[in-house]
Amino acid sequence: MNKKGVLVTGGAGYIGSHTVVELIGAGYEVVIVDNFSNSDASSLDGIAKITGTKPIFVEADCCDKEALREVFEHYDFSSVIHFAAYKAVGESVAEPAKYYRNNLLSFLNVVELMKEYHRPNIVFSSSATVYGDAEVLPVTELTPRKPATSPYGNTKQMAEDILRDIVSANNELRGIALRYFNPIGAHPSALIGELPRGVPNNLVPYITQTAAGVRECLSIFGDDYPTPDGSCLRDYIDIVDLARAHVVAINRMVEGKSEECYEVFNIGTGSPVSVFELVQGFERANNLKLNYKVAARRAGDVTAVWADTTRANEILGWCAERNLEDTLRTAWAWECNVRKEK
Ligand code: UDP
Repeated sequence: MNKKGVLVTGGAGYIGSHTVVELIGAGYEVVIVDNFSNSDASSLDGIAKITGTKPIFVEADCCDKEALREVFEHYDFSSVIHFAAYKAVGESVAEPAKYYRNNLLSFLNVVELMKEYHRPNIVFSSSATVYGDAEVLPVTELTPRKPATSPYGNTKQMAEDILRDIVSANNELRGIALRYFNPIGAHPSALIGELPRGVPNNLVPYITQTAAGVRECLSIFGDDYPTPDGSCLRDYIDIVDLARAHVVAINRMVEGKSEECYEVFNIGTGSPVSVFELVQGFERANNLKLNYKVAARRAGDVTAVWADTTRANEILGWCAERNLEDTLRTAWAWECNVRKEK
């Protein structure tokens, strides 16, 4: 089996494409599977330009088990990173069946094929959303999960549990769930980045589109939270730092360093940042003024969540390196590049 081979589902997407770049940089041979449901072939060109390598690409939907089986038949890899999933919280509330079907079926197909084809290692994209409105901050991996407030969040919790049960029942398999906090920014080359379809839900793409004049004004959702400046607190993690966390997680499994068959790690910076601080940081980093106003709270938002990253620091030897303003510069450079191309 090719220990250096990694299958990346959703590898054309935002987190996937940055992870593919880091994997190639670390000497891994990547096979990407993506159905472009929320991504674009341009990210594959970006990956090729940055790395000088064109990874193998298969256009397929992970819900199509026979199509996915072809990939397991044809390519040799020891590890899988499973990104392919829907991720819009609001849409998941409106269309829960779509989310359960896509996110759980694709995940089950991947894990079942791994078992059948004896491919031992999987990294699963989980989320800080599993912590909900935590009572004690920062959250550690032992902080109890809260009942999910959206079908999207529920698919993350359910997939974590499914993964834990499947690897516990099969001593050939190992899994690592990475709980991402708020990924932001783009590759420093500005050749890959986030490509939201329609009106962005997330803060940073909304900010960059407002700065670019695509949106008129950013709404800050709530200034009456019980936080120092009244806006919500989050842990914004640079996308390249996040991508590197996947490489160290794969290294750990490939090198057989873990005694446990299932492990969970928080991937964040460990520092809370408010919405106002983020906006000011963006203005400072890019030397521009943003049009914004305070609006009502957004339904479902938690007041504050940030990571205790001790486990990732000590066990994976990973920590966030890029500072917030540098990351916000990459976000703006990417937005400018996207506009230039249009
Ligand atoms: N937010 C905002 N305006 C926006 C989008 C987001 O004020 O247009 C706030 C949101 O209320 C939250 C933070 O920015 O406090 C991060 O939101 P995002 O949707 O990016 O991530 P979440 O933490 O909700 O997953």
